Amino acid sequence: MEQRRSPLLEVKGNIELKIPLVKATSRLPLPGSRLKRGPDQMEDALEPEKKRIRGLGTTTKIATTRPRAPPLTTVPQAQGQAAAQKVPRRTGPRYSTATATVSKNQKPVPAVPVQKPSTSATLPMVRGKKPSKRPAWDLKGQLCDLNAELKRCREKTQTLDQENQQLRDQLTEAQQQAKALGAERRTLEGELITVRAQAEQGQQELANLSARVLELEERLGTQEGLVQELQKEQLELQEERQGLAARLEEQERRLQASETALSSSRAEVASLRQEAAAQAVLLAERGERLHGLEMERRRLHNQLQELKGNIRVFCRVRPVLPGEPIPPPGLLLFPSGPNGPSDPPTRLSLSRSDERRGTLSGAPAPTTRHDFSFDRVFPPGSGQDEVFEEIAMLVQSALDGYPVCIFAYGQTGSGKTFTMEGGPGRDPQVEGLIPRAMRHLFSVAQELGGQGWTYRFVASYVEIYNETVRDLLATGTRKGHVGDCEIRRAGPGSEELTVTNARYVPVSCEKEVEALLHLAHQNRAVARTAQNERSSRSHSVFQLQISGEHTGRGLQCGAPLSLVDLAGSERLDPGLALGPGERERLRETQAINSSLSTLGLVIMALSNKESHVPYRNSKLTYLLQNSLGGSAKMLMFVNISPLEENISETLNSLRFASKVNQCVIGTAQANRK
Ligand code: ADP
Ligand code: MG
Repeated sequence: MEQRRSPLLEVKGNIELKIPLVKATSRLPLPGSRLKRGPDQMEDALEPEKKRIRGLGTTTKIATTRPRAPPLTTVPQAQGQAAAQKVPRRTGPRYSTATATVSKNQKPVPAVPVQKPSTSATLPMVRGKKPSKRPAWDLKGQLCDLNAELKRCREKTQTLDQENQQLRDQLTEAQQQAKALGAERRTLEGELITVRAQAEQGQQELANLSARVLELEERLGTQEGLVQELQKEQLELQEERQGLAARLEEQERRLQASETALSSSRAEVASLRQEAAAQAVLLAERGERLHGLEMERRRLHNQLQELKGNIRVFCRVRPVLPGEPIPPPGLLLFPSGPNGPSDPPTRLSLSRSDERRGTLSGAPAPTTRHDFSFDRVFPPGSGQDEVFEEIAMLVQSALDGYPVCIFAYGQTGSGKTFTMEGGPGRDPQVEGLIPRAMRHLFSVAQELGGQGWTYRFVASYVEIYNETVRDLLATGTRKGHVGDCEIRRAGPGSEELTVTNARYVPVSCEKEVEALLHLAHQNRAVARTAQNERSSRSHSVFQLQISGEHTGRGLQCGAPLSLVDLAGSERLDPGLALGPGERERLRETQAINSSLSTLGLVIMALSNKESHVPYRNSKLTYLLQNSLGGSAKMLMFVNISPLEENISETLNSLRFASKVNQCVIGTAQANRK
């Protein structure tokens, strides 16, 4: 502030300035409009003036209009100097009034440098007025000049004082103005600060706004991108919608068609339901009738079987095998029945020549004819199917709940195994009774299933050799094991018998039965030796436990079906030497004979209704006791050889079978629960 005031002080100090300078300084205050620009601006406005004045001060000497009195040439240097010293010395420039009054727009007139007073007569100021130099002697004149000079100086001093006073006043005024201006400047500075703050704030706001604008622009860009995407999506959706609309239309059309079809179907279903209900009623009635008929069939079936006899004996003669001697004609005859050859044969005649009697008399040996009558006789040409046809009805009795037992009796090689199991190979023509009976049972059980019956079959297959039982279905390490199977009751108080350690295999189809027969065949082969055709020396018992259930009516029925391939019935030749092998053979034969005769005795006892039936006398009868007597139905095949050499054994077999055939076991009763 002080510094800025310095130009003014400078002006103040320059007391040599003439009044017109005051006019110039009085013109210092600038127009209000300019002042309002602020102190700085004002100063800036003042600055050229100051510079101009300073410039003048440093480079020029201002010539005054009022010419300074020329120094008296007579005035000694010292005097002149003293007079000059009286004039206040200024460091600043001296202005001529002409210069001071120069208007701002006018260029200042170059000041004429103030020249030192000189004695030279060439000075224009004193050239015309200067009194002539007083002679040295004219002291009075000189004094008078000096007085005049002094007076002028005094006047000049007075004038200068007045000017000085005026300048002081002007200074005071200027100071006041400066003060006022200072105040104004401060106000303006305050305003400036406020304005600056506002400007800063504005700038800040502007920056914020710019940032915001940028951000918004960015967002706008993003939004535009989004909008484009959405538009694209919208287009896709529109396309999709169109597609869907088309599909919907198609679906609606189809739905309508379906609805039409559905309504017609519903009507159809309703009528079908009515029909079904009527059918169901009819079906129930028919079911009832069918059941009645089934029960009637069973009753009649049983009656028929009973009429045929609960013990039946069929005789089967095997054909002469290739390589065997042709038997003499008439050895075995099959007389026709009362209705001629159309009747199934039931009779058989065996003619045997008594060679001993013939030899003794020398005449041709007389022949003895033995006639036998059985329930059915099958001559050598009879096929397996023909044989099975006769027993199929009997087998079916087992499904109705009657125990059924079928034996094959005869000497070794007479065709027992062929009859029960079948011939060699897989020829269905030579299939035996066991597989045929199984197939028949499964098929009938399936038919009865339609009437509400459910059947379960469990098979077992054992061999009785020398009064020991062996499981023919044994597998793994138990194969060929002998002696650990025992016949026991299934449970305390139970009538059912079971073989311990033997396998009881559930079966439901022929294939499974086939597999079991194959296994049994293998197991028999394991025990076979060169000297001993064991299968002929043992009884094979195939048993099928049948259990049927009618859940709807709460009915149950169950019975065993036993198919027995008996051991060879031949006797031991009494003429044979008794070696160790023969002794063993004798023991076997005795065991076989014993069990076969026990079988005959059991049948007899049952036939005679004896109180004691010797079931326990052999393992065979013990195992089969539930399949013999009482409600059981029994069928015995007596298999005979057609060969002449076997005639004796054939006769024995036929005699045994005849005895059995004469037996009648009491009325059978089905095992119904
Ligand atoms: P068994 O078991 O009584 O000892 P097989 O059944 O083994 O006798 O029969 C002995 C032989 O006679 C076998 O080769 C068998 O194929 C054959 N055979 C038995 N019966 C017939 C028959 N009805 N038709 C054809 N061959 C038979
Ligand atoms: Mg056999």
